[in-house]
Amino acid sequence: MRLDLLAIAAHPDDVELTCGGTLIKMARRGYKTGILDLTAGEMGTRGTPETRAKEAAKAAKLLGVSWRGTLGVPDSDVQPTRQHKLKLAAVIRELRPKTVILPYWEARHPDHYHASTLGYEGCFLAGLKQLPIEGEAYRPFKILYSISYADARPTFVVDISKEFEQRRKAILAFQSQFRPAKGEPKSRVFLAIDRLEDEMNQLARHYGQMIGVRYGEPFLTKELMQVEDVVDLPVRSI
Ligand SMILES: [Zn+2]
Repeated sequence: MRLDLLAIAAHPDDVELTCGGTLIKMARRGYKTGILDLTAGEMGTRGTPETRAKEAAKAAKLLGVSWRGTLGVPDSDVQPTRQHKLKLAAVIRELRPKTVILPYWEARHPDHYHASTLGYEGCFLAGLKQLPIEGEAYRPFKILYSISYADARPTFVVDISKEFEQRRKAILAFQSQFRPAKGEPKSRVFLAIDRLEDEMNQLARHYGQMIGVRYGEPFLTKELMQVEDVVDLPVRSI
């Protein structure tokens, strides 16, 4: 298996919420896409790991990804340890993605910022020939940081207007997270489905507006973007 694009995140449903539209768009363009969930989300307040696995598989289908896997890191304990980095490096060598999407390096949830470091360092190590793991040394070419929930200015925004509806379906596949089971009392952490949907809309609208389209997903790169043709640039200035 050789992927064009791999999105790595801490918990199942993180990818759907932050860059699901971009994954759909790239799959529709014919690229081979994939998702690596670092944990199985077993600390989630709702639903069992089995339910989450089923939901993740359903969401993967809706996103059109060719591959989805779990690294097996314990939920709420995502740390850039040597052991986890080697495990991740082995997956990178196996999937050989050209581009990798990682969470932004600053976040409220420790799993999210640790996932960023673990992801970066795992990708780096995968390229070291002397690493004591199987597989041919390989390092992804490009790393994009997904910044949907971060307080940072994006380097670029992907227009997901055509993919927005499908992304919504993929997010709602994780219904155990957002809907109480029958007879279950509503807890305080219960995130009402309508509130979540409202938030999703607002964020995608906000970033869409920044590039003059209906819906968008923001990304940041540490390196600058190179431009060849300054006459043929999208996004109107005035
Ligand atoms: Zn998460």
